[in-house]
This record gives sequence, C-alpha cells and structure tokens, in this order.
Amino acid sequence: MEALATWKHGFEPNRISFAAMADGLSALDAVERGARYCEDDLTCMSVGSGAIPDELGVLTLDASIMDHDGNCGSVSFVQNYPHPISIARKVMEETPHIMLAGVGAEKFAEHEGFTKSNLMTDASQKLYEKWKELPEGLNVRLRRSEEGEHEYVFEYSENGNTKKLDRKSLNESHDTIGLLARDKNGKLSGACTTSGLAFKMHGRVGDSPIIGAGLYVDGEVGAAVATGNGELVMRACSAFHIVEMLRQGIEPEHALLEAISRIKKDKHLTDDMQVGFLVLRHDGFWWAGSLREGYQFAAATDSKQNTLFNCSGISFTPAS
Ligand code: ASP
Repeated sequence: MEALATWKHGFEPNRISFAAMADGLSALDAVERGARYCEDDLTCMSVGSGAIPDELGVLTLDASIMDHDGNCGSVSFVQNYPHPISIARKVMEETPHIMLAGVGAEKFAEHEGFTKSNLMTDASQKLYEKWKELPEGLNVRLRRSEEGEHEYVFEYSENGNTKKLDRKSLNESHDTIGLLARDKNGKLSGACTTSGLAFKMHGRVGDSPIIGAGLYVDGEVGAAVATGNGELVMRACSAFHIVEMLRQGIEPEHALLEAISRIKKDKHLTDDMQVGFLVLRHDGFWWAGSLREGYQFAAATDSKQNTLFNCSGISFTPAS
C-alpha cells in the first residue's frame, strides 16, 4: 500500500488515507476520506470550509475523484456544500456524466441528501476584507512565501521596490490537496479538492476538477495529481500527460521532468507561480516534483510511516 498527498496540510489526510487502507478500505474510499478531512479542517484555508473566497467574497469549491477503472466524477463552483469530493464521487457513481458545475452540482447534492452549510468562516471573511482594503493601484499580488509550505504573502511594488504587506495580519495559505493511493489489492485511486486560487475571478475554475489536468488515474499504468497555478496545468494537461508517459515506459522521474519542462515553456509563466506533482505508478513506485522550491508532500508506505518531504525544485524525492 502507498498513500501520497500534496502539501503540509496533506500530512494528516494522508495518514487517514493510509490508515483506511490498512483497515481494509479501498484506495477510492481512502482518498475520499483523506480529502474530506481536509475539507473540514478550518485551519487549512485552501480547501473546503473556511478557505479563501474569490474576488467577490464568495467561496467556491472544485473537486475531482477517479478510480483504477477510469471511472471519474467532478464538481466545480460549489458554494454551499462543504464536501465537494463526496459530491464528485456521487456524480461518478450515480450519473452518466463526469462533471457538474455550479447550481446544477448543488441541485444534485441536495437530491443526494448532502447537508448545506455556510462555507465562509470569520477568518475567511476577515482575510477577504483585508484584501479588499488593499489599494488597487499598488498592483498587489499574492505570492508564495519564501518559508515554503503552502503559505502566500501579499506583495506590491512602490517606486520600483517590492514590498511585502504585513503577513501576520494576513496569514493565509492556499493550495489544493491532491491524494493518490494504492490499496492492498493494488488498485489505484486519486482525489483532488480545492477552493482554487485565492481571490480568483468570480466564476474561475482551475485544473483540480478537470480530469486529465489536475488528476488522472489509469489502474494499469499509474496516477498523477497536480497542485499550483491551475492555468499552467490546464494548458499542459499535465496529469494525463504524465500518466501517458508512464504508459510508454518512461520512468516517473523523467515523466515529471518532461511535464515540468513543458510548464517552463508556458508563455504565461511568471516567477511567482508554482506547480507541484505527485506520481504513483501501478507497481507502487512513486515520485514527486515541482517547478520550484517550497513544495511539500506527505508519503506513507507499508515500509515507511507517513512522512513529510520537501521537494526542492526539480530534484525529485525518490520512493524509498
Ligand atoms: N490548482 C489549484 C487551482 O488552480 C490551486 C492550487 O493548487 O493551489 O485552482
């Protein structure tokens, strides 16, 4: 068995995912369980309840899930239900479709008996208000903090100098949780759940609910999941691309290098953008890679308990 999850806030979800498989649950149940934990974790401001809203102060969630047989489901622009990952699973299992968006996804969730809730917390509201106060002329950008992990800082330019806004008062984080797992029967599954980019345009949907971009699983080949600037991942169809390279017999590390080199060629890439990947091959061999330093992920295997790794740039962390 193997379980992988993106970012530091993926550590506990990954432990939960691995433990579920140790208890005999399938990889599909395991990744859903791990994802749900993160969706409920109010300290994680990039997934589920209590995350960072969009530019209108509306919190919108995206999620996708996929199993070893190529079954998949996803939802986007969910505003009133705290567990998009489970709605995505229901889309996969109960409908002939793959993706439901917005009002339609919520109507379906209601029909399936999901409980509605207000996703915004005081902390999300406060952060939004703080962000609204920032003067527009300053061209404030949200930038990944140098301390790594999954934190971002507000930054702006004044008289040619880059200045940081007080991080303590803004102290927010942002990053999708992506989980991959291989269970006792060697079956692979993956899940991805997010609130998307902080203060995104209202209506913007990123890579996470797009099968083949943020997540792809082929039980006979392998699985890949992405986090980071979704537009870069979407333009490159990264998760699908990585799995297709594995299908051709390319080693995971080289597949990752190639996927990252594609992203490096993206004309829209700027130095504050990050992308991180996890790859799990059908035989349980795994790697991770990122565009830059600062990407962390958790991994648990039969021989090694859940551990947090730092992935510095494109020097990948090997499987053992
Ligand atoms: N990939 C997500 C998106 O673009 C965001 C993230 O992973 O931080 O919506």
